[in-house]
Amino acid sequence: MEGNIKDKVDMLLKLQEIELKMASIQTFIDGHPGQLKQLDSRLKEFEDNISEVKSGLSDLQQIYRSHESDAQTYQAQIEKSREKLKSVKTNKEYQSSLKEMEELEGLQSKVEDKMIQCLEDTDEAEAALAGKKEEFKRFSQQVNVQKEETLRESAEKEAQLSELDMERKKILQLVAPGLLNKYNAVKKNAGGIGVAVVKNSVCQGCNVNIPPQMFNELLKFDKLLVCPFCQRIIYPISND
Ligand SMILES: [Zn+2]
Repeated sequence: MEGNIKDKVDMLLKLQEIELKMASIQTFIDGHPGQLKQLDSRLKEFEDNISEVKSGLSDLQQIYRSHESDAQTYQAQIEKSREKLKSVKTNKEYQSSLKEMEELEGLQSKVEDKMIQCLEDTDEAEAALAGKKEEFKRFSQQVNVQKEETLRESAEKEAQLSELDMERKKILQLVAPGLLNKYNAVKKNAGGIGVAVVKNSVCQGCNVNIPPQMFNELLKFDKLLVCPFCQRIIYPISND
């Protein structure tokens, strides 16, 4: 009888160990899609940032073209004024045409300054874009490595899981149905742990001392006992 109970609970402990391992592996696997999603969203953020810089660059190019067209307009007007200057009859006309030309030249010079500024800004934006593209390349390489690693890890964990599941099924066949039902019921009510070991007469499931008389009974291994506090199936192990 003694060996019988001991073997039975021993089997349950093995089952429990496997089930806990499986649950922890499953939690690990379940985290992977979230990790992959996070990596993708970081990549997307990066791409959006590059698009922003690109669109700023294209704005600058458009502004430059508009200044360029203004400069051409002013240039044409200046030439016209210069022609007019040649054919003026009076000093008053001459002064007025000269003033007009000076004004146009002033405007022209301002537009040219703006064009220079625009070119400088464009150079800056292009350098920033090149830097970001380079950074993105490195980052996406990193992401790909991480993704591969995650997928490889998932596959590895799935393999471990199916191996453990085979072990679990083997043990299930060896446990009497009544005991299995009891174990499952206790497990359900006790946070997933159905069997608790008792060490130094303390139940390791709930950390409470088992009454001495019960502990002595437990050591006899002649019947299945449950912890009076956490209701788990209890099993004594040696002190060391
Ligand atoms: Zn307990």
